[in-house]
Amino acid sequence: MSEAASAAGGGVDAVELLRDLLRFDTSNPPGAERACLEFLQARLERAGISTWMLSVDPERPNLLGRIRGRGEAPPLLLYGHVDVVPAGSGGWEHPPFAAEIANGALWGRGALDMKGGVALIVAAAIRLAEGSEPPAGDVLLALTSDEEAGSHPGMRFLVEEHPQEWDGVRHALSELGGMTLWLGERKLTPVQIAEKQRCVIRATVEGRGGHAAAALSGTAAGALGQLLATLDSRSLPYRLTPVATVVLEAVAEALGGELGEGLRRIAGGADPAVELAALGEAGAVFEPLLRDTAVPTAAGGWVATNVVPTELYVDLDVRILPGGSPEGVIAQLEQLVPVSARYEVRHREPAIEGDADLSLLPLLSAAAAAHEPGAPVVPWMLSGYTDARYLSRLGIQTYGFLPLRLPPTITTGLMHAPNERVPVDSIEPGVDCLLGAVRAYRG
Ligand SMILES: [Zn+2]
Repeated sequence: MSEAASAAGGGVDAVELLRDLLRFDTSNPPGAERACLEFLQARLERAGISTWMLSVDPERPNLLGRIRGRGEAPPLLLYGHVDVVPAGSGGWEHPPFAAEIANGALWGRGALDMKGGVALIVAAAIRLAEGSEPPAGDVLLALTSDEEAGSHPGMRFLVEEHPQEWDGVRHALSELGGMTLWLGERKLTPVQIAEKQRCVIRATVEGRGGHAAAALSGTAAGALGQLLATLDSRSLPYRLTPVATVVLEAVAEALGGELGEGLRRIAGGADPAVELAALGEAGAVFEPLLRDTAVPTAAGGWVATNVVPTELYVDLDVRILPGGSPEGVIAQLEQLVPVSARYEVRHREPAIEGDADLSLLPLLSAAAAAHEPGAPVVPWMLSGYTDARYLSRLGIQTYGFLPLRLPPTITTGLMHAPNERVPVDSIEPGVDCLLGAVRAYRG
């Protein structure tokens, strides 16, 4: 394991640190995060940071740490997960766990989601601990297991079993945000302040069944086809939430122009279908912020090739805007789908609790303005979900702010995809920017 000390402002080379992290195969399942977290624990301890592990599963622990502050601000939590989604079997130009550098980028599963962010957190923490001036308040660290598959031994366990670890914490920095978002020629620095809730809804349809030699109509297969065709061609209704209004107005303010005007009209109540269509590709970015989605991802109920089934089902991956509910989506589906179906919630993730607290945005804007001029910070709603949903139960607002300057060719679309990579020259400036924000935090 390389452990080169860098001349760049401290006893840690953040690029080499990230390469070390990428070489741990923490594909989840099974995760097997222990070796990676023990490596980080040793690295933090060497910098004089006190750390401890909390686990319900010894192979899947969580690493916590604390840097003492001057007692002049509340504690600030920095957290991230070290598990990654599986790399898949093909499509990689450079192997997913070799941490190769090519074409100015560091390649590997987790480069963006989110070992890149973990490297920023750990490097910033080491520099903070080794620096001459302690931070205003305590800086707390949490590096967790299993974010990608439910967080049960990870953040969920910590929040449910050890909430006292974060007494007094109101704000946290983590994924997902701080990475450049390009909209045509313009760029933004989105900072996640809210996210959608996931659930799985099973839709079951019925029809005539029997011997496959009988020329039947009105079958379950026909009803399933109608249901799927409807979901493919029509959308669940648009719904303007308070968070989406904040996001649209901030982006409109930051970008101006035709896009800004269109977004402002939507925030003012204009029909998103019309406005987004007129905005083309840039408009499509905002679609998930304005409606719930229900996407078919699995189906079943077939019996045998010579039996016409009387009942078939499809499972829908559903993402729900803040303030909505799985039951609300079922009501929307009943309105939209022209065939009768039975809907059942098979799985539900918790939603973020409480209203978004935007009070840290000015501080993050100032930190980002020096880091990447011309890419203003805007609040953002994530269409996916993160460990922020568990921390929100403790009244902790997460800001997605782990700053990485990305060119138009490297997007967050590479997360969970082949060829995930991060520009090498984005990493050290990202550490500086994060450190600037942490040092400026006063509560
Ligand atoms: Zn992630």
